[in-house]
Amino acid sequence: MTENKKVKRVLTRKCPVCGHESWRIIYGMVMPDVIEQYPKAEFAGCVVMEEQRLYPTTGHVEWGAPKWACQSPGCRHRWW
Ligand SMILES: [Zn+2]
Repeated sequence: MTENKKVKRVLTRKCPVCGHESWRIIYGMVMPDVIEQYPKAEFAGCVVMEEQRLYPTTGHVEWGAPKWACQSPGCRHRWW
């Protein structure tokens, strides 16, 4: 029996809107052991939902797939 000695990488960020803890969004088919390695991540599956944003510094509208999701129930802000 092999034991997984990998260090669990818990990467979180602060929501730019409310300051709440935000988790990484991981796309694609993921095995259960991978999910165990990332206790603080959202798994979005294979469907990448593109979202629109107004980039504050340039004023341009951009499209992209969000990489971070706010974990505050009242916020749920997603960004990249
Ligand atoms: Zn938030």
